[in-house]
Amino acid sequence: MVTNKNCILRLSRYKNALYRFKSLGFFKIFSDYLADAVGVTSAQVRKDFSLFGISGNKRGGYKIDSLIEKLNDILGKNELQKVIMAGAGNLGSALIKYKNFEKEGIKIVAAFDIDPAKHNSRLPVPVLPLEDLEQYVMINKTKIGIISVPDIAAQHILDVMIKAGICGVLNFAPIQLKASESCIINNVNLELELENLIYFVNALQKSPNVRISDKIP
Ligand code: ATP
Repeated sequence: MVTNKNCILRLSRYKNALYRFKSLGFFKIFSDYLADAVGVTSAQVRKDFSLFGISGNKRGGYKIDSLIEKLNDILGKNELQKVIMAGAGNLGSALIKYKNFEKEGIKIVAAFDIDPAKHNSRLPVPVLPLEDLEQYVMINKTKIGIISVPDIAAQHILDVMIKAGICGVLNFAPIQLKASESCIINNVNLELELENLIYFVNALQKSPNVRISDKIP
């Protein structure tokens, strides 16, 4: 089994690029075109694919449709992924409204919040009391959660989620969370990303010839 996060990230990027090629009317693709679209070398593409037993034809390349199907299968996207969320504030609500998740087979099925003013079980994505999270996750066998609560509440929320059976978390709280190895945490720290961007924009303005590496891992 492949446990390298960067490799799996590249698979998602290949898959997205393949959809774009398909929408342009292509049926087949060579690894160097795909490599170019994603910003890696063609050797990297072939190496990543061979890890999953995907092989192309030297003359004809890869068939786009079957490649997309294989990648979706590897990425667990051939079935709808149900996701719960803790924190239905501004960010949480924006994520609920974000349409592209459903296109990608991901559905936020319920949100949980401590603020009673936000509770509404009749919404398409119901906002429920935090106390209901454990039972909901157990009944619905949900495995993935999103944390969009303030940083001070995030560790507690993570502990509640793990106790309920969640084993993968996308954490938007700007804090390093602790969990056992049975739970995978992916952090999205928007402040940190913007801070990083600001640094490089300033650096570029100070010395326009400076080279900033933007290689995709
Ligand atoms: P709002 O404007 O609705 O307060 P916000 O995104 O600015 O949104 P935050 O303070 O970041 O507010 O909180 C995000 C959400 O997390 C809010 O809906 C808040 O009620 C909720 N929240 C805070 N603490 C917890 C907690 N311990 N458990 C669950 N939800 C929480």
